[in-house]
Amino acid sequence: MESVIGLVNRIQRACTVLGDYGADDSLPTLWNSLPTIVVVGGQSSGKSSVLESIVGRDFLPRGSGIVTRRPLVLQLYKTDPGQEEYAQFLHLGKRRFTDFSMVRAEIQEETDRVTGRTKQISTLPINLSIYSPNVVNLTLIDLPGLTKVAVVGQPESIVQEIENIVRSYVEKPNCIILAITPANQDVATSDAIKLAREVDPTGERTFGVLTKLDLMDRGTHALDVLEGRSYRLQRPWVGIVNRSQADINRNVDMMAARRREREFFATSPDYGHLASRMGSEYLAKLLSKHLESVIKARVPSIMSMINKSIDELEAELDHLGRPVAIDAGAQLYSILELCRAFDQIFKEHLDGGRPGGDRIYGVFDYQLPAALRKLPFDHHLSLQNVRKVVLEADGYQPHLVAPEQGYRRLIEGALSYFRGPAEASVDAVHFILKELVRKSIGETQELKRFPTLQAGIAAAANEALERFHDDSKKTVLRMVDMESSYLTVDFFRKLPQEVEKGGNPAVSTADRYTEGHFRRIGSNVSSYVGMVSEMLRNTIPKAVVYCQVREAKQSLLDHFYAQLGKKEGQQLAQLLDEDPVLMERRQQCGRRLELYKSARDEIDSVLWAR
Ligand code: GDP
Ligand code: MG
Repeated sequence: MESVIGLVNRIQRACTVLGDYGADDSLPTLWNSLPTIVVVGGQSSGKSSVLESIVGRDFLPRGSGIVTRRPLVLQLYKTDPGQEEYAQFLHLGKRRFTDFSMVRAEIQEETDRVTGRTKQISTLPINLSIYSPNVVNLTLIDLPGLTKVAVVGQPESIVQEIENIVRSYVEKPNCIILAITPANQDVATSDAIKLAREVDPTGERTFGVLTKLDLMDRGTHALDVLEGRSYRLQRPWVGIVNRSQADINRNVDMMAARRREREFFATSPDYGHLASRMGSEYLAKLLSKHLESVIKARVPSIMSMINKSIDELEAELDHLGRPVAIDAGAQLYSILELCRAFDQIFKEHLDGGRPGGDRIYGVFDYQLPAALRKLPFDHHLSLQNVRKVVLEADGYQPHLVAPEQGYRRLIEGALSYFRGPAEASVDAVHFILKELVRKSIGETQELKRFPTLQAGIAAAANEALERFHDDSKKTVLRMVDMESSYLTVDFFRKLPQEVEKGGNPAVSTADRYTEGHFRRIGSNVSSYVGMVSEMLRNTIPKAVVYCQVREAKQSLLDHFYAQLGKKEGQQLAQLLDEDPVLMERRQQCGRRLELYKSARDEIDSVLWAR
C-alpha cells in the first residue's frame, strides 16, 4: 500500500509545480482534495522537533520568534536499507542535499526570498522531499506557530495572519491535524487543541501529541491526557520526548535521541505500560497507516472530482480560445482567419441567414419610390410656372412652332429634383452597411479576445464603406445628370404634333399662348419626367448595389489585407495584443488542466498496478 502514499506525494508535488496549493478560489483545486498531515501548535511547543524526530534528521531552522514563516510541505520517501539519505527542494530541481545543515540554510534563504527580510509570512509553501531508509512514506506540513504577540519588528497583524494560514489548512475536511501540546502546559489552554476542536469537533481527524514529557514537574505525570481522560479524541494520544535545547546545543544526533526516547518510555514507572504506543517512531507509523486508509477511501471521489474538473477546464479553455501563435507567419494566418470569420458573418447579414440585408431592399422598394413620388412636380409644372418658364425662355422672340427652349428648361429643372432621392438612397444604404459592420464585429466571438485587431478591422471596414459611399454617390448623381444632358428624342416625336405635316403651322400664333397650349406643354413634360422617374427607380438601386453592396461583399477588407502584407512581425504581434486578463486566465487553466491530467494518469497507473 506504500504506493498509494507515494501517489499522493507525487500529486502534491505536481500541485506545487503547477501552482495549486488551494489558495485560488477561481480554479478547481486538487490540492484541497488530497489528505495531508498538518502540524499545529503554539510557538515552541515542539512542532519542528516532532517533525525532525519523525524524519530522524536534524534539518529545520530554529531560533526565537517566528521561525517558520512559510508552510513547509515535507514529503518523506522510504528508500531501501543502506541507501544514502538525501533531500531535494522542488524549487531547486534535481539538486541533492546530503548535508542536512545545508537543508536548514536553504529553508531559511528560500523563506526570506519570498517573505523578504522584514520577517513577513507567506502562504506560498516550500516543498521539501526527503529520501531515506529511516522514514515512512508520509507528507507532513509544518506551519508557523500560533502566537499571541508579535515580536519587535513584526506588524501586529502577523498574529492574525498566522492564525489565518493555519486555519486555511486545518479547516479542510481532508486535513489530518497533528495537534502539538507541551506536557508542561495545561491541555485546557492548548492553542492547538482549541483550534482543532473548533474545526474538527468530533475529533476524528485530530491526533493529539504531547511533547516535553521529560520536562514535567517531578512527581507529576500526564496519564490523564495520554489515556484520553482529560480531553477525549477519537484517535489515541501519543507522548513524545524530543531533544532538549541542551541536547541540540551538544549536537546529540537524532538516532541517539530516538534511542533515548525509547528508553524513557520503557523505563518510566508512569508510562511503561504504554511504551509500545509512545514515541516519535510509533507516531510516524500510526500516521502512515492512517494516511493510507484515508487515501484508499478517498481515491474514488478524488478520481470523479478530477474527471469533472478536467471537463470544466476544457470547456473553459474552449471558450477562451487557442493561445496566440508566436511566429509571424502563424500570426498572420491567425489574423486572416479572424478577418475571414468577421467577413463571413458580415456576408451572412447581406445574403440572408442573419438579419439586416433585407433593410437594403426596403430602401429600394419603399423609401426610394416614396421619395420620388413626393417630388414637387405639381408645383414645377403648374400652369403658372410653365407659362413663366416658357415665356422667359422665348425672350423677345416668341417661339414659332414648339417652345424648344421652354421644354428644355422645364425638363432640366424637373430632373434636378431627382438628385435628392438618389443621394438619399446612397446614404440610407451606407447607414445600413455601417450598422451591419458594427453588428458583425460584435458577433465575431473570436475577435473579442483581441481588442486591437477588433478595432483595426472595424476601422478598415468603415473606411472602405466611406469609399464605396463616395463612389456610389458620384455614380447616381452622374446618372441623373446624364438624363438632363441628352433628352430622349423619340418621346417627343411620338407626341401628338401641334405642327402639321408639311411644316405649316396648324394653329394660329394667338392660339400658342392660350391656357390649353401651356397645359399641353406641362402635361408633355410631366409624362417625360414620369418616364425618367420610372427608369431611375430601377437604375438607382442597380448603381447602389453595384457600387456599395457588391463592393462591400467582395472587397470590404481588401485595403486592410494589403496593409497587413506590409507589416513586420512586431506589428502583427501588436494586432494580436490579447487582453492580458484572458491570457493569464488561459495560462492558469492550462496549467491546472495539465495537473489534473497527470494526476489522473498517476492514479490510473497505481490502480492498474494493484
Ligand atoms: P516549535 O516552535 O513548535 O517548532 O518548537 P521547537 O521544535 O523549535 O522546540 C522549541 C524548544 O523546545 C527547543 O529548544 C526544543 O529543544 C525544545 N523541545 C521541544 N520538544 C522537547 C521535548 O520533548 N523535551 C525537551 N526537553 N525539550 C523539547
Ligand atoms: Mg518550528
